[in-house]
Amino acid sequence: MSGGHVGRFAPSPTGPLHAGSMVAALASRADVLAHGGRWLLRIEDVDGPRAAPGATDAILQALAACGFAHDGEIVFQSRRGAAYAAALDGLIARDLAYPCACTRAEVAREAARRTADGEAVYSGACAHGIAPERAGARAARAWRARMPDRDIAWTDRWRGPQHENPARDTGDVVVKRADGIWAYHLAVVVDDIAAGVTDIVRGADLLHSTARQIALREALGVTAPLRWLHVPLLRDAAGNKLSKQTLAPAVDVRAPLAVLTTAARALGLDLAGEPRTVAAFWTLAPAAWERRLAALPE
Ligand code: GLU
Repeated sequence: MSGGHVGRFAPSPTGPLHAGSMVAALASRADVLAHGGRWLLRIEDVDGPRAAPGATDAILQALAACGFAHDGEIVFQSRRGAAYAAALDGLIARDLAYPCACTRAEVAREAARRTADGEAVYSGACAHGIAPERAGARAARAWRARMPDRDIAWTDRWRGPQHENPARDTGDVVVKRADGIWAYHLAVVVDDIAAGVTDIVRGADLLHSTARQIALREALGVTAPLRWLHVPLLRDAAGNKLSKQTLAPAVDVRAPLAVLTTAARALGLDLAGEPRTVAAFWTLAPAAWERRLAALPE
């Protein structure tokens, strides 16, 4: 084991694993196996109200049935509040975060642009203090981190060169929500730093999160580079991304080999054999993954 390569799978327990999440899990695990590193598991239950009862157990059972073996303890974001608070304090101390009193409706109304994912780009209305008409009873609702107004460039290991200007393309990012819940971007970045993750392999729905997350890492003073790889998304027959929102069905844990080979096919992996067991699948997957990456771009 080289020890230098640290990957992770970070499902949100908003429902059981579906075929799309299995693709991300397989890709990140195969990548670690191919490099001889560590594969970490993090349950992204930071958004308590969105967590579905029983989803964490269902996810862990599905991963175990499919022969996924994680290294170290499972991290639960719901227990990481102190680390997120310390990160926010650090940003505030360097004037890299500020309180924001804007409502969702105001943000939507005042946005001059939309992000690549169709969200409203924050106008920066509270970036230099909360205007008196926005203060008053509701005062600060959320905390935002200042995003740099410069191009952030990175090379996606699947998709090649990428760049985005976070200030222009996304606007200052919420790090603590008005309801007091830690926001996804801060939690992910703080946890990936704490765990020493070197390689993020995840679904392409998060491609446009990357520049923001690089900017947040830098704001938190972390210079160690990360490698990124965004695998293609699975789509249903109507062309929609498979997700809990589109009610993608849970993978069938009674047929783990079929679940794994379906995910492998979605990634375009050629296993160079017909594995008859889950264990046999995992002996073939790492080399198949390496051959797939070597064949990119298609
Ligand atoms: N929790 C996110 C999801 O389930 C993944 C976050 C990440 O991989 O950065 O979509």
